[in-house]
Amino acid sequence: MKIGILSRNKSLYSTQRLMEACEQRGHQALVIDALRCYMNINSDQPSIHSRGESLDGFDAIIPRIGASVTFYGCAVLRQFEMMGVFPVNESVAITRSRDKLRSMQLLSRRKIGMPVTGFASKPDDIKDLLDMVGGAPVVIKLLEGTQGIGVVLAETRKAAESVIEAFLGLKANIMVQEFIKEAGGADIRCFVIGDRVIAAMRRQGAEGEFRSNLHRGGSASLVRITPEERRTAVEAAKVMGLRVAGVDLLRSSRGPLVMEVNSSPGLEGIEQATGKDVAGMIIEYIEKNAKPQRTRTRGK
Ligand code: ADP
Ligand code: GLU
Repeated sequence: MKIGILSRNKSLYSTQRLMEACEQRGHQALVIDALRCYMNINSDQPSIHSRGESLDGFDAIIPRIGASVTFYGCAVLRQFEMMGVFPVNESVAITRSRDKLRSMQLLSRRKIGMPVTGFASKPDDIKDLLDMVGGAPVVIKLLEGTQGIGVVLAETRKAAESVIEAFLGLKANIMVQEFIKEAGGADIRCFVIGDRVIAAMRRQGAEGEFRSNLHRGGSASLVRITPEERRTAVEAAKVMGLRVAGVDLLRSSRGPLVMEVNSSPGLEGIEQATGKDVAGMIIEYIEKNAKPQRTRTRGK
């Protein structure tokens, strides 16, 4: 097969591993930088070009679209979909999962466990917002944050009020969330492919740190997850319409709670923590499921 990897950077671990896995399995792999693509949108024959050449003949695309290029990256992916190429994740599902509020609304509608969460843009009553989520301690998150930056634990009501005020003063959209203390500064990353969790790792924050992000000094290890965690992760990916997803769970006293569903989950941490060939499993999924020329973005 001819497989395109939609990624801005050839030297990233995940991109490299996907290339390797394609080649090991006898496929032709090409890294495509979405920002260098230009497209002809017409009703006869949609096409995509990059650096003077037409990008055609692909059987499948693996989107690895960074948060900052979601808009254009998804447009390029959608164009491939219109040309009948099988996307590992559909453009609509990626767009959906990048919107944290929309994601949480969809997950809650399907009764998937999640921390009690309040959203706000310009609340004129911060006290009521805090009461609504059960009062301090709370975790306050900037919607635009990644890698744990912009995630603050406010242990007292006073602290929570001033942090919320400060963030809102900067005109940021925020999420105010119940603090899951019993998670103990750890979370579980479940790597979902299709309807299975194919690898899982536990990330533990550094001493005295409630955030488990590896970028914040956390460490990862292999973990055995419960059947309930497995079900929750698979269901969360399904609700988002993602065939490949990284589902982050917190272990709470009322069961697994979904924090986030990531549509371009990194391979480095999970492959190192579990010793599994996750890249190979993604290619294997494509081999089994790609139906070139029969792909249609359903947009559901
Ligand atoms: P980011 O998307 O920037 O990584 P997260 O929402 O995943 O931000 O939060 C970063 C980390 O903080 C999580 O991995 C988790 O360890 C911790 N955390 C986030 N929300 C909560 C919460 N409500 N209760 C307890 N810990 C949390
Ligand atoms: N079309 C789906 C529905 O209404 C999902 C909507 C969305 O992703 O926001 O169930």
